[in-house]
Amino acid sequence: MAEYAFAPPPTVSLPAPPGKPFPVRRIFCVGQNYRDHAKEMGGNPATEPPFFFMKPASAIAQNGAVIPYPPGTADLQYEAELVVAMHGGGRNVPLEKANDLIFGYAAGLDMTKRDTQTEARRKGRPWEMAKSFDYSAPCSAISPKPQTGVISRGKIACKVNGHLRQSGELSAMIWGVPQIVAYLSQQVEIAPGDLIFTGTPAGVGPVTKGDRIEVTIEGLAPLAIEIG
Ligand code: MN
Repeated sequence: MAEYAFAPPPTVSLPAPPGKPFPVRRIFCVGQNYRDHAKEMGGNPATEPPFFFMKPASAIAQNGAVIPYPPGTADLQYEAELVVAMHGGGRNVPLEKANDLIFGYAAGLDMTKRDTQTEARRKGRPWEMAKSFDYSAPCSAISPKPQTGVISRGKIACKVNGHLRQSGELSAMIWGVPQIVAYLSQQVEIAPGDLIFTGTPAGVGPVTKGDRIEVTIEGLAPLAIEIG
């Protein structure tokens, strides 16, 4: 075993079937992938190919976690999202091969400092400090992919303190899972362990200390976290 200057960081992982954890490599996120959310953010959906941003693997928070309210914001918001977990990789993946690379799916939250993001947009600056902070990527256990192949429909919902805040349909995604995998693989070489957050439906909003956020996606393990 190689010796390092200090102990290398532990591998971030998520619970996965059939009991061996899924090691997380990178987290890619799609922006504005539902028309209703793109509109609420002032965007013009489906006129351009999907765009991506990233979070570090260390941003993962496990189901049941109490995550701290992050510094540098007064407008922390939830975005409930379908997460695709990759066990295969490659460049320029054709649509019909995307499913072969997918290990499973999860329910995730793309936690966002909305005020920081709005300022970055206005000034033409990067989004990282609005999107890629510690604990910004809560994610459920990974569920196996359906025998029938790629997930293309099903209800996605987000509750805050038991109140329904987001209620969407995966079939309303502008770019479906195969399209997202194909587009992303034209930008980077996808690798085993990569996660892809696929965008959020309308209804995003702020949370504060003590709030409990629950994400449910039909057929997948649910996610619940608390802001501490
Ligand atoms: Mn998002």
